Formats: sequence, C-alpha cells, structure tokens
Amino acid sequence: MSTYRLNSARHAPDSTEYRAYHARNWRDIPQLARLDKERLFEMEVVSKVFPFKTNNFVIDNLIDWSDVENDPIFALNFPHREMLMPADFSALAGLIRKGADEALITQRVREIRETLNPHPAGQKEHNIPELDEESLPGMQHKYRETVLFFPSQGQTCHAYCTFCFRWPQFTGDSADRFASREVGNLIAYLRRHPEVTDVLITGGDPMIMSSRVLAGYVRPLLAARLPNLRRIRFGTKALTFWPHRFVNDRDADELLALLGDIADAGLHVAVMAHFNHPRELESPVVQDAIARLRESGAEIRTQSPLLRPVNADPVVWQTMWKKQVDLGCIPYYMFLARDTGAHHHFSVPLVRAWRIYRDAIAGVSGLARTVRGPSMSATPGKVEVLGVSRIGPQKVISLRFLQGRDPGWVMRPFFAKYDEQATWLDELRPVSGSRWFFEERPSQLRATA
Ligand SMILES: *Cc1c(COP(=O)(O)O)cnc(C)c1O
Ligand code: SF4
Repeated sequence: MSTYRLNSARHAPDSTEYRAYHARNWRDIPQLARLDKERLFEMEVVSKVFPFKTNNFVIDNLIDWSDVENDPIFALNFPHREMLMPADFSALAGLIRKGADEALITQRVREIRETLNPHPAGQKEHNIPELDEESLPGMQHKYRETVLFFPSQGQTCHAYCTFCFRWPQFTGDSADRFASREVGNLIAYLRRHPEVTDVLITGGDPMIMSSRVLAGYVRPLLAARLPNLRRIRFGTKALTFWPHRFVNDRDADELLALLGDIADAGLHVAVMAHFNHPRELESPVVQDAIARLRESGAEIRTQSPLLRPVNADPVVWQTMWKKQVDLGCIPYYMFLARDTGAHHHFSVPLVRAWRIYRDAIAGVSGLARTVRGPSMSATPGKVEVLGVSRIGPQKVISLRFLQGRDPGWVMRPFFAKYDEQATWLDELRPVSGSRWFFEERPSQLRATA
C-alpha cells in the first residue's frame, strides 16, 4: 500500500453527508420553493424522458438560485422544457395533466426516447470487443491503443448532466446498458491484444463506487503485470458533483492510496476530469480535491463538451482553462455535444464552435493550448474541426481525425462544403465527390477491435 496521507488531518471524516435527489424525492429540494408552478411541472414532464438526479453539493454550492434563468449549472443539472421537441412536450404534458394511465405515459416516454438516437456513434454495433467469439459487453474497443471498461457498479453518477450521452444507461432498461463485472475478461483481452496500452475506466462515473469496489477492479489489473498496459485512466465528473469523494468521504484516503499504488507500480495514472464551467473550479473543496489527486501521483486532464445553454462563450472557456492550469490540470478536449438526447437544445454549429475555440485559445498561455479543438466523437472516429478556409473560390470547413477506427485516417486534413448550420459530421458534404475518403472501404466501418 502506498503511504498516502496528505491533508487528512485538515478534514474531519464524515463531515459532509451526501444527499441525492431524483425522480421520487426531487420536490424536497428546498430551493425549488423559489420556482413557479409552471416550471416545476415542466421539470416533471421532461424528467420522465431524461433521467434526473442531483445532490446537496450541487444545489447548495454551484447554483445561483436568484437567477436560475441564466444559471449555467442549473442548465446543466435540471430538466428544461426545451429539451423535448415542442410536439413531444405537449403530448406528454397533456397525458400527465389529465392524469392518464401510468402505462400509457410509459409507452409514450418509450416512443419519445426511441426518436432521440439513444446509441450514437455505433457504440452498440461496432465497438464491443470479442474474446473467443464471445462478446464482452462491459467493454468498448474502438481505437487501437485504448480499451474502455465499464464496471457494473459504476453505471450511475453523483448527479446527471442534462446533455448526458449515456442517458440510456440511467433509465433502467438493462438491455441498453453495457457494464461488466468481469475484470478477468478485461485481463484476458489485454493479454490477447498487445497493441492496447491504455485502459480507460469509465461509466457513468466510476468514482461513484466505493474505494473497496474500485480496488476490486484495479488491483487484479495491477497484479496481472501485463507488459503492454502502461496507463490507467478514470473518467469522472465527481470533482464537480461530489468533490468530497477525494477529500473527506470515509474512504477518500483509501481511493488516493489506490491511485498512488498504480503510480508506484510504474503505470501512468490519469483522471480525465469533466468540467463544464469555471464556476465548478471555485470552491475550496474542489481545489483541495485536485491538490490531493495530484499528490497521489495522478495527472488530471480536463474535458468538456461545448453546450449552448452552459458555456458557449470564449471567455468562459478561457477562464476555465487558465484556472485549470493554475490548479495543475491539463486542458485536453473540447467536445461537440453528441448527437443524442436533447442535442437540438445543447448543440452549437461546428463553425461557431470553432470560432469560440479560436477566440478562447488566442488569449491563454501556451501551457493551456494543450486542448484539442472542437471534436466530434462520430461513428468513424474523433473528428476535429480545424477551421474555415478556402480552396480557390470555394469556402470550406477543414477537418481531421484525432482518432479513427482505422489509424491510417488520423491527422489527414480533409474538407467539407461550408455549412454555417451543420452541427455534426453527418450533416456535412465532401467538397469533391459524393463520399468521404474514409467511406471508400465500407467494410472498415464494421471492423471493431
Ligand atoms: C475518446 C475515446 C477514447 C480515448 O481517446 P484519446 O484520444 O486517447 O483520449 C477511447 N475510446 C473511445 C471510444 C473514445 O471515444
Ligand atoms: S458526468 Fe458524464 S456520465 Fe455522468 S451524467 Fe454527466 S455526462 Fe453523463
């Protein structure tokens, strides 16, 4: 065990009680008494379709309740009427208002969800790896170097983002989940695939698991001493939604010791921290959590999607990146909101996204320019919008793959016809010809591992 002990004396254990609010008890949130009845009803309607969950840290520390109309964290965490198409909203609201049968409401909710592209980027068809012809549903292997692992107890979150692309995982339909209990399968797969150097443990949020349960996944992975495994990453939003996880929860020290042990084993350990707004970095407990994580030996890299109601402003990103670098984090990805769920509400057109990125990055030190520009996690790969350019008289959008199903596609600039409105790769058209270069051999789209 690593002898990780920093800061413990400063924090009384158990000093903060976690309180979750969700579909059954959300009306108990004291601050909601400030909102009018119509808004509460809208929240009820929308939360039938999109899972809703928040907690006392978010509502007591991150939201300005005197101005919820303009509050970025309220937009991030609470359901809004605009998240449903007007016709869907009216239909569902009508059923609820007239006290329709629960079965009827459930049926309508299911139909609406089906129209919201619950499984974007082929994640159910293309990315599930196989071992001896058995598929391994708790994993995804899309890019050569990195396997995603979804521990089954990590398939929820401390709170739910309104834009979450994993929402089907939280809606209780087990057929829609991909989760694994089987770290043994992961180890066997890694032995068979020496090209894999990174495991990204994700969810939901793996930091929702107790340190003991998390250790049950990580320690066997370390004990296997796989020569190809060089890096373990954890994707998490706990630094925003429940920073006590790393500071004064009962098993916070145990978690940091576990991360320390990964580093002691000679592996790189990275926390892929999800921050959407600079406000999330302000509280002392978040800053303590970041300091403790770093001292455990973990590196923190940050990522966020660009979200119209939350952070569609270069100053917001600039402030966020500067603050992150001040706190010792490495800005990593600016994503475009995935084409799922309430994409119509959250998305920003590609051209506008690129302008926000450019204006933001022009004002920060080189140490914050580590962040990759607006990127789409699309079916063929992660595509970055490089900018607007011209080929002769023609205005074009320049793009490139940061990751591709075929590593040969990576970093080759390619061009789309200029389109001011497009919000996703499938809305763009190639400048020449009718197909993209990466569609020339469609069989590659089917290749998985
Ligand atoms: C983003 C992503 C990764 C990791 O990509 P990096 O560029 O290495 O951070 C791995 N697998 C999938 C499916 C992803 O979407
Ligand atoms: S932190 Fe990630 S998994 Fe959790 S609700 Fe937000 S987007 Fe979804």
